[in-house]
Amino acid sequence: MAILKGQRYYKLKLSIDNNNYQEIKMITNLHNHIQAVHNQSIDIVEYTAKALEQAKAINKEYNYFTTISEELALSQAQNLKKTPTGRLAGVFLSVKDAICVQGVESTAGSKILKGYKPLFNATVIQRCINEGAIILGKTSQDEFGFGGFAVNTEIVPKNPFNKDRVTGGSSGGSAGITQKADFAHLALGESTGGSIVNPALFCGVYGLCPTYGRVSRYGLLDYGSSLDKIGPMAKTIEDIASLLNIIAGHDDKEATSATQKTEDYTKYLNRPVRKMKIGIIKDLFGDVFGDGVDENITKAIYKKIEQLESEEVICEEVSMPITNKYGIPAYYIIATAEASTNLAKYCGIRYGAADDLKSNYNEYFTKFREANFSKEAKRRIMLGTFTRMAGYRDAYYTKAMKVRTKIIEEYQHLFKKYDALISPVMPMLAPKFSELEKLTPAQHYMADIMTAPPNLAGLPHINVPIGMHNDQALGLMLTTNHFEEGKLIQIGSAIR
Ligand code: GLN
Repeated sequence: MAILKGQRYYKLKLSIDNNNYQEIKMITNLHNHIQAVHNQSIDIVEYTAKALEQAKAINKEYNYFTTISEELALSQAQNLKKTPTGRLAGVFLSVKDAICVQGVESTAGSKILKGYKPLFNATVIQRCINEGAIILGKTSQDEFGFGGFAVNTEIVPKNPFNKDRVTGGSSGGSAGITQKADFAHLALGESTGGSIVNPALFCGVYGLCPTYGRVSRYGLLDYGSSLDKIGPMAKTIEDIASLLNIIAGHDDKEATSATQKTEDYTKYLNRPVRKMKIGIIKDLFGDVFGDGVDENITKAIYKKIEQLESEEVICEEVSMPITNKYGIPAYYIIATAEASTNLAKYCGIRYGAADDLKSNYNEYFTKFREANFSKEAKRRIMLGTFTRMAGYRDAYYTKAMKVRTKIIEEYQHLFKKYDALISPVMPMLAPKFSELEKLTPAQHYMADIMTAPPNLAGLPHINVPIGMHNDQALGLMLTTNHFEEGKLIQIGSAIR
């Protein structure tokens, strides 16, 4: 794709800056917006200028972007005006910073990657661009995905319903802008241990984490390579299905990419759910976090369960003792072990931030990594290095891998009987920044008790928003067996 350069770009920019887009009425419905682009009843360049203006204004207050890719977006809009085609024609896409966009700074929320502009697009980005999507920008996140509240980074996003609260994380920026954007918008998030459903919950939007391997990881700045998944975030479940249709599918460039056939996920929308069977993971509604799960979450979820039962869905309580006891320790051992090896390549020589290479060779790496990794990244490098060290490996890493197999078995046993499992997403509603400060790192990790297990098992799961409790969004999590994203959409669309 040709990117407007030099004079041509500045001419366009000048005409945009001198214009007033007050009269433009943005179309929020994806289908209607795409149609309007296809039949050229709107000027997509003007719409893009207006969307950028809105994104900038929102960003000033909420910190959802690390970069707004204005130049790229306007170039894409210009091209689209000439050739208005594609299943995402003119839809504005916000991208988690860890997903590479060619020529746009991609740092995974880390200081160590400052200035890194990838020479290529991640497969998911290329697929969306091929379908006419317009890249709005890169979104704020916990550094390399290390966190569940999007506070372990320099640009901290704020909750769309109350700026004193967190967005959740790590894909916090993607979730926040999805709630706030007043135009046809989609976002991409990434989950290692819960980073799609968790911020989707706190920001009141849908977020679907697909089966491991369903969506290509090519071009993702990885956290834990056996755990990372890219997935869609959107205001409606229809839009989730549409974006999944585009990003799912085999990719020759990625060794763990699944070869299973994809499906048209939109076909699952509003399919009858009568006689389907859902297991309620009862251990996760109890006293899982010392003082238990917030009762407002439990009440709201059970109301939805009653609604499903009234539609003749069979709902039964189930228990997952191994998963709920060992999910968190196994996850944090495996995730940090993988992270500590993945981060070894960042030393200021090949990627991102650079330093004066004249200093002593041995001291150079220590000095550079000390200055450019945050406290949380260092904690994880140390934890992960320790658990795979000779002498400790069998006791920690190898054992955690065995536990991972047991957890997968526990899920498989349940999926023989149930179509899906239901649970809360997080034990708490969106906390305030001031409340979070009181938690220890271990308590931060414990908050992943519901989301770490499906991620360890590589299972698809979704946050379904189910209303508000004052200024805090409520939601529930559905988990299905491998490659059953369709059922998530089927049941998710039955919950209204
Ligand atoms: N909160 C989890 C962690 O810190 C999950 C984060 C993620 O999925 N990237 O590892």
